[in-house]
Amino acid sequence: MLPPLPPSPLRLQIDTDALAANWRAMDAMSGTARAGAAVKADAYGLGVGQVVPVLAEAGCRNWFVAHWCEVPEVIAHVPAAQVAVLHGPMADADVAFALATGVRPVLNSLAQVARWLAAGGGPCHVMVDTGINRLGLAMQDLGDPMLGRLDIDLCLSHLASADEDVAQNAAQLERFARTRALVRARRYSLANSAGIALGAAYHADLTRPGIALYGGVVRREMEGVVRQVARPQAAVLQLRDLVAGDAVGYNATFVAPHAMRVGVVALGYADGYLRCWSNRGSFGLDGAKLPVIGRVSMDLTAIDLTLAPDLHEGDWLTLDYDLRRAAVESGLSQYELLTVLHRRFARK
Ligand SMILES: *Cc1c(COP(=O)(O)O)cnc(C)c1O
Repeated sequence: MLPPLPPSPLRLQIDTDALAANWRAMDAMSGTARAGAAVKADAYGLGVGQVVPVLAEAGCRNWFVAHWCEVPEVIAHVPAAQVAVLHGPMADADVAFALATGVRPVLNSLAQVARWLAAGGGPCHVMVDTGINRLGLAMQDLGDPMLGRLDIDLCLSHLASADEDVAQNAAQLERFARTRALVRARRYSLANSAGIALGAAYHADLTRPGIALYGGVVRREMEGVVRQVARPQAAVLQLRDLVAGDAVGYNATFVAPHAMRVGVVALGYADGYLRCWSNRGSFGLDGAKLPVIGRVSMDLTAIDLTLAPDLHEGDWLTLDYDLRRAAVESGLSQYELLTVLHRRFARK
């Protein structure tokens, strides 16, 4: 037996009030439609175990994962029939897993439809491709008589450019209207987070927000509505006092212009704090900004503590990680900023 594990010097603080409020805001913005939740990729890196119970409590009843391997953690918290697997059944083992657990496959092709029917079928979802050209039945597949034999709970499609005001949105909406006339389902769903802000015409019966639940602001309409949820925090492992001319980190990309105090924190690119943050990112402390200096390395990052002279080894710092601002500063998307934060964080 191992002794209890010492506390981690790295944690991802999850603001569960903000998470619940973001879901309620997306549900309200969805009008007469209900909001579900995309919880694929471990709830965008925040942790299914942290996120799903909070959203279930807030009222969410529809969950979307990408892979079959993501199912067990989700159905530990919510009924299997509420869970949809977006990648669909590629093989008979996937079909068997769906039938045994009661999760709903999203059928993406006529081959998947045939596979599902051959196994006896049952309630399922169907994805139709209205222009993103990713997954889903093609428009010309919709007349296939096999579709009439399905028990379709949700007929869905996915928007390619809902975060922009472009003609593609209306074009997809028009194809979705044709889809609705051709595919008989209990409910229809088109909008992701950004799509919710496109208005009532895009809402159908169920919306599928992901990024907005986790603090992403992907359209102007969500400014001031969506709140920050995830805050990476790291402990200071060591303090160092530099003299002018001392270099910091791999390849000496930062050289101290004068004597200064530096903190070394337990966060690196292996944790998803990628090298693009070298000499660019910052931590916040009581309103002061403590800039990253030198290269981010695998497990460590150095920061300038000039504005935090009283900091001690072991103290905690919070990374500046407002998603919209961090996306501009890093060149990463708001989605990437969350999903890379995946590895060694203790989640709170
Ligand atoms: C990921 C995903 C969503 C959620 O998208 P966001 O942009 O994060 O709101 C919705 N639907 C499908 C099919 C997805 O793959």
